[in-house]
Amino acid sequence: MTAIEAILYVVEDIADKIPEGDYLKLMDNLKKVYGFKPAEGVSVMSMVVERVRQNPIVLQHDRQTRMKIKVKQEIKDDATKLKKGWNICENCDTIVLDLKEHQASKKCRDGACAKRLVKTTGTTENAKLKKGITLLKAIRVRED
Ligand SMILES: [Zn+2]
Repeated sequence: MTAIEAILYVVEDIADKIPEGDYLKLMDNLKKVYGFKPAEGVSVMSMVVERVRQNPIVLQHDRQTRMKIKVKQEIKDDATKLKKGWNICENCDTIVLDLKEHQASKKCRDGACAKRLVKTTGTTENAKLKKGITLLKAIRVRED
């Protein structure tokens, strides 16, 4: 092990105890020292570069620069949706953009069923009835 490599190992050992700027200054100056010894500096230089690249702080910054930027999704309230051409489903009263796609969905069928139950029973407390309907449908599906 050369004297410079020994220094490098010491710097690596204390890397998490010194400020990031000081660590980078030390590494930069070690690189410069190796620059004066081209014969043995080539392999040691690549070692220094690799060590800097593997530093947790450098890795973290590298990952941050590669993160995808999320496009901020526009939050629309119901009034804004209606102004922008969304529709109210007559079956279940949900505000949707694509009415045809929505009306083919389970969500719409369930919403429409809940709406009919409220209309028929005059109350919103229909959990037991809904459970019975679901069980009857399941029996009908098995008999088909
Ligand atoms: Zn619907």
